[in-house]
Amino acid sequence: MSKTKVYLCPVCDNKLDSKSFCHACQRSFRDEVESSKKEELLDYQIAQQDKIDNACFAFIKSFYPDAHWDQEQISVIRDALIKVGVRYHGDSEYDLYPWLLEPEQIGNRDNIKLRLTLDVDYSPHGIPINALM
Ligand SMILES: [Zn+2]
Repeated sequence: MSKTKVYLCPVCDNKLDSKSFCHACQRSFRDEVESSKKEELLDYQIAQQDKIDNACFAFIKSFYPDAHWDQEQISVIRDALIKVGVRYHGDSEYDLYPWLLEPEQIGNRDNIKLRLTLDVDYSPHGIPINALM
């Protein structure tokens, strides 16, 4: 079996073609893939992360004016904000808070399954929120 690795679309998980284009989304991720190979986000992606983090910090500060910049607190608000964006406003997690793209083994869907499993919300009764909707 070949060990070819491919990049998957960070929005829909379909395979990107050799030019890093997602045919399902009709969108090129060429710059994002090239930048990820250098372990760097693009300027617009860093700006997007900053925008989200600053908004989350401002939100916390509006209730707790003495609060200091704390990644753990910010990430709690950020996760909730991203869920609202994805669930109610049709945004993609990647567009809200971009990450470095990593090539994945063809046929190995374990990473994707793990991602989906981690994304499940549980109600106070332990029932996945999706099952209640
Ligand atoms: Zn796509």
